Amino acid sequence: MEEELRIVPFECQRCWHVWEEEYVVRHQEDRHGNGGEIWLRAGLPVSPPSSGAICPRCGCQRATTFPDGYLSRHPELRRAAEPTVPDETPLISPVRPPLY
Ligand SMILES: [Zn+2]
Repeated sequence: MEEELRIVPFECQRCWHVWEEEYVVRHQEDRHGNGGEIWLRAGLPVSPPSSGAICPRCGCQRATTFPDGYLSRHPELRRAAEPTVPDETPLISPVRPPLY
């Protein structure tokens, strides 16, 4: 039995909110070689993520999942929440005290 951490990206089709949820996927194989997956969230078994997740922002149920690795090919989606502005301030030291 092995467990795998899987981060599943979702996108709301109403407000275009993008978010991720962490799951643990437990792989099991019985004596006949039939594999099975159990999805866990916070240690509790849940049904595998699929379309129909509830958007945490607008509460609608029209969220959809991305294929695996989608967000790594579209980093702009992930970055939308935390814009990375290049710091072009020259490093001057010592910093001048504020003038009153
Ligand atoms: Zn939404």
